[in-house]
Amino acid sequence: MFRTLLMRKKIVAANWKMNLNASQARELLTSLKEKAFSLKSHQEVIVAPPFPFIPAALEQIGSIENYFVAAQNCSDKEKGAYTGEVSTAMLGSIGVSHIITGHSERREYYGETNGVVAAKVNRILAEQLTPIFCCGESLETREAGDANAFVGSQLNECLFHLDENSMQKVVIAYEPIWAIGTGKTASSEQAQEMHAHIRAAIAEKYGNTVADSISILYGGSVKGSNAAELFGQQDVDGALVGGASLDADDFSKIIGALS
Ligand code: PEP
Repeated sequence: MFRTLLMRKKIVAANWKMNLNASQARELLTSLKEKAFSLKSHQEVIVAPPFPFIPAALEQIGSIENYFVAAQNCSDKEKGAYTGEVSTAMLGSIGVSHIITGHSERREYYGETNGVVAAKVNRILAEQLTPIFCCGESLETREAGDANAFVGSQLNECLFHLDENSMQKVVIAYEPIWAIGTGKTASSEQAQEMHAHIRAAIAEKYGNTVADSISILYGGSVKGSNAAELFGQQDVDGALVGGASLDADDFSKIIGALS
């Protein structure tokens, strides 16, 4: 039987955001460990706790096969007098493998522009880590019919300066702002349509081989109950999960929907 040689990674990533205290984090990690899946070689689970809980996450789930620990943010600077910042080198040196960047909450509440996000992408790649690059439009932009152009410009300004080799290392998360934390999930057709648009934009710039190799995750109110339908779409390669990732049972259902 014919099998494609290149299998895109299918990924479920947890973004805990600024939630939990140390004992709650330990409890959640223990549950994730107890419920750990035996993943296929092309499947990954990535957990992004707040910075203080990263060492515990590495200890509890970092050695499970195909489970990875991510950071939710990093500095755009290499090192030096930047009080309160955390560098990619620090994160890499403790075993973090992925870093989320371009999240709409950082863009909205901390004024991160496409230029800052591009600098963070560069720093993450320079440290041989994987950026989970988030993009997505507001409801206003979608209703104005400008969603494709808006996401296209985010790709252009944050990623399309990369060479082909670096581009292939990026994971993309399409997260429509109107679906984040609102309980409103994009329909699977809406998600597929935007994912196909993102893949086509990558193909236009880098060619089909690169475009076909990049995992594009969907983010925005993904739950155990809607994950399978989203993952059934041709260009949806998994999910970046906020709220539901704080519930080990629901998060496990989402992981289970990968298979
Ligand atoms: C997120 O913030 O990355 C996210 C997808 O959140 P939620 O799942 O809560 O909508």
